Amino acid sequence: MKTLDKTQQNIVKRAVIYVRVSTEKQAEKVSPEAQEQDGRAYCEKQGYIVIAVYRDIEKYRSGKKLVEPSGTRRDRPKFKQMLADGYGGKFDVIIAWREDRLYRGLRPMMDVLDCLKETEVEIELVKETFDKNFAPVKAWVANMELEGRRERTTMGMKGRLAQGKISGGSSAVPYGYDYHEDTGTYTINKYEADWVRNIWQWYSEGVAIHEIRRRLINAAVPQKGNKPRKYSWHTNIIRQILKREDYFTGIFISKWAGQAFEIEIPPILDKQLFEAVRKQQARWKNYPAGKTKQTNLSGQPVHPVYALAPGVIYCAACGVKMRVVRYKKRNSKGILTGKYYDYYRCNNLAHLCSLSGCAGLKRIQKTDAEIWEKIWPLLSKPGALEKALEARISELQAQESNAETDCQYLEQELQNLFLERQKVVTWARKELITEDDLQVQLFSLSQQEKSLKRYLTDARLLVGNRAERLLQVVKLYREKTIIGYEVVNQNGNTPEQTAAIFEARRRIIEGLVTKVEVMEDGSVKVEAEIHLDESKKNKEHDSGIYIEDIDLGVK
Ligand SMILES: [Zn+2]
Repeated sequence: MKTLDKTQQNIVKRAVIYVRVSTEKQAEKVSPEAQEQDGRAYCEKQGYIVIAVYRDIEKYRSGKKLVEPSGTRRDRPKFKQMLADGYGGKFDVIIAWREDRLYRGLRPMMDVLDCLKETEVEIELVKETFDKNFAPVKAWVANMELEGRRERTTMGMKGRLAQGKISGGSSAVPYGYDYHEDTGTYTINKYEADWVRNIWQWYSEGVAIHEIRRRLINAAVPQKGNKPRKYSWHTNIIRQILKREDYFTGIFISKWAGQAFEIEIPPILDKQLFEAVRKQQARWKNYPAGKTKQTNLSGQPVHPVYALAPGVIYCAACGVKMRVVRYKKRNSKGILTGKYYDYYRCNNLAHLCSLSGCAGLKRIQKTDAEIWEKIWPLLSKPGALEKALEARISELQAQESNAETDCQYLEQELQNLFLERQKVVTWARKELITEDDLQVQLFSLSQQEKSLKRYLTDARLLVGNRAERLLQVVKLYREKTIIGYEVVNQNGNTPEQTAAIFEARRRIIEGLVTKVEVMEDGSVKVEAEIHLDESKKNKEHDSGIYIEDIDLGVK
């Protein structure tokens, strides 16, 4: 910035030029060079001396984001600098091409007006006249316009969605479809749809997700979008494809502005294939956690996986579940040796995003031994255990009756929703609301209803199941204690004995253990449904064999 002495200052006005461009929609788009040139020409004509040019023409960092120097932002770096210099008395007049170069919203406008009010600084515009008194009104109008545009975009989008037209980026387009911007509709992409059918077909035949992934990669099947992926055909993408109901129902649900809309799309799958996959999925879902698999999907016998804690075992560092995996051993020539190892594997490890301290892969045998060591002390004190179980069961049963109250409340809510729906329909009939509004309202109500119903089912099932499982443990435990509780803590001599002992342990773990966490070094932290108070050791009941029959008031 040039400096002028006092005498010069009295004669000529010291001017600064403010230049701003961004990608925001403008009626006229003028390059920064042209803005500056026009500004300089203006100053020459007025006899001003240009002592600085402030240019907000590049993206800048605001917090964590890189932003455009929009006129609605008051944190534009050169804009802020200019106002600071204005307060410092470094110039007399700001020259801008148009008013909207300086600001487009209320807040940056007020920043400028404050500066004008408190200093001798003035504003002159090249293409417009600047009226200081009219400025606040202008800002207000500009702000309302911006707000209005945002509102109109939302309303326009809602309208399109309600009409069954879909707006939005390509990211929302399901695999197997093409989106047509002009009509706002979806059509089948024949090539992709074939692969959707293949994926569903393979899954229905019992092909594992990882194998499906391998096949897709081998066939070089392209994914949505053109950019290369770091991890192609992630198993989660395949799972999502297998989850989609709209491939069969032809009803695509799109979410916009906090509401969901149903849009009709052409179905890709027939009923037979859809149901086959759902059946297959149910088969896996209903498979009791930890139960050893005796046959594969084609009914051939397999070596069972003896794992005590699937479903409740977590990697301590990553906080994600660990799953059971089996690695078949190959010799140096890559030929299967018939040997295999079973592991718990952190799910993060599978997706190459594990954290430091991740448990990674842990041999099931070793980990289960650690878990059993933690659980065993609970079982070795029959009296204390039975008491604790009893207390916990009545606690759960109390929760169950609470849940029943919750259910009654939820049912009332459902009834209210039903009445609400009647009301909306009546409004529509009396033409108090439009057909579009009716659709939106009805859909929103049906969504609420769905989630309430889901909540209701959960509330009923959850508590009851846990009490039931604990009762199983008690029952099992009673049987075993009569024979001698040590049995479950021994290794079997024959495969049948080993299997029976494993089964007993598994049922105990299933009933008692709520969570297992595995550390990097292989040690485990076990959270159980009950806690034994070590200080209250009951000598009398600690004899090892406990046959007194306590009636718990349940079967
Ligand atoms: Zn991990």
